[in-house]
Amino acid sequence: MERTLITDVITNVAPQTAVTIAGWIRTVRASKGGFSFLNVNDGSCMANLQVVADDKLDNYGTDIAHLTAGCSVVVTGTLVESPAKGQRVELHADRVQVLGLADADTYPIQPKRHTFEFLRTQAHLRVRTNTFGAVARVRSAISFAIHEFFQQRGFFYVNTPIITASDCEGAGEMFRVTTLDPAAPADHSQDFFGQPTFLTVSGQLEGETYACGLGNIYTFGPTFRAENSNTPRHLAEFWMIEPEMAFCDLTGDADLAEDFLKHIFAATLQRCPEDMAFFNERIDKTVLATLEHIIDTPFERITYTQAIELLAAADRKWDYPPHWGADLQTEHERFLTEQTFNRPVIITDYPAAIKPFYMRLSDDGKTVAAMDVLVPKIGEIIGGAQREERLDVLDSRMTAAGLDLDDYWWFRDLRRYGTAPHAGFGLGLERTIQFATGMANIRDVIPYPRTPRSAEF
Ligand code: ATP
Ligand code: MN
Repeated sequence: MERTLITDVITNVAPQTAVTIAGWIRTVRASKGGFSFLNVNDGSCMANLQVVADDKLDNYGTDIAHLTAGCSVVVTGTLVESPAKGQRVELHADRVQVLGLADADTYPIQPKRHTFEFLRTQAHLRVRTNTFGAVARVRSAISFAIHEFFQQRGFFYVNTPIITASDCEGAGEMFRVTTLDPAAPADHSQDFFGQPTFLTVSGQLEGETYACGLGNIYTFGPTFRAENSNTPRHLAEFWMIEPEMAFCDLTGDADLAEDFLKHIFAATLQRCPEDMAFFNERIDKTVLATLEHIIDTPFERITYTQAIELLAAADRKWDYPPHWGADLQTEHERFLTEQTFNRPVIITDYPAAIKPFYMRLSDDGKTVAAMDVLVPKIGEIIGGAQREERLDVLDSRMTAAGLDLDDYWWFRDLRRYGTAPHAGFGLGLERTIQFATGMANIRDVIPYPRTPRSAEF
């Protein structure tokens, strides 16, 4: 089927051109003068194309007069300058072919406001709404910008395993992968892989092996955490981007994280102006100003110890009073990035005791070369570190963490053969999309969210 995308029709195609478009009806209005106005959306952009169908068309009474929201149509006609406000052109139909009707009594996406809670129950159809169409287009643009950022800088894209036998640091609870009969007692020697296996919580350990050979790499793949966090910022299945750089320290890592976020948001504003204007008007009136501010402003960089001092001195009540040695809570993270600095904040040098074994131990013996990047409203969007490249230090950290060194023999080999300083971080794709769009709930920025007690679709 030869069709022109509506995004091209409304921006590029000259009036008086003959075009064919295909899409789904959003609204229909019959006028007294013997016309129907069909607003058609094909997903290529937010805007609908207005189709004017004359009652002289031979299927007017049989088909066109019965069109309702959700029906699919193919329309051929002539593009003409539109007398109506807010649209450059409209399509005067010579032919309207109805492909599929949508029963008006049962079609869930009627042209009215639906709550996001309701639309989650209709996740297979919600992409046909303005909000979810825009989220999907922005998600695609952000994914492309991520690849573009790394490819422009000579990073190689690496695919790390989804099924894994190693528990990366205990980043979260893991989902088990097994072919054993759930009713029988577990005997992993009889299991598919002959040992317990899990869905990955991070590609980092394998990413490190490729960085220590290719130089600069990134992963971009699905990540699974069985943590029972029913929050607007946690999913059980999400997408993570993990760059890893050989011959790089914590400062280089923080520099990359800052450039990376700025690139993503600049690309989003540049490539999705129509969708971003929608989010700014309908979802969060501050989102455009926030993104522009972030692109233009250097990120603040402070140590964990400084952060604790600032929080302890702050004149407000905390659910979790801050003290040195405790992990930062979202209330602390948001206070620093929203109130104290009003810009993204990179916090470095966390206590070793609250961070995983692979982060590089500093000379003070108490802190590690970790960094978290915090942004307003979301809190942590990136977590990263310079890695421990000294085998003896790594081994003692692993032993202290109760890990079996033999399980990590290949990871330790990196420190045995040509060890080198290296650093990396993880960015959650969905938190990035939440931040870019202003969408409040992470369940609304992934097509089919997986959360505790919910895996429909
Ligand atoms: P949090 O403290 O918010 O649970 P984390 O410390 O577990 O995050 P990391 O293990 O450092 O996060 O993962 C790196 C990034 O992956 C985070 O900064 C965040 O953007 C994203 N992320 C982590 N867990 C989730 C999740 N359950 N759902 C969506 N994104 C997540
Ligand atoms: Mn977590």
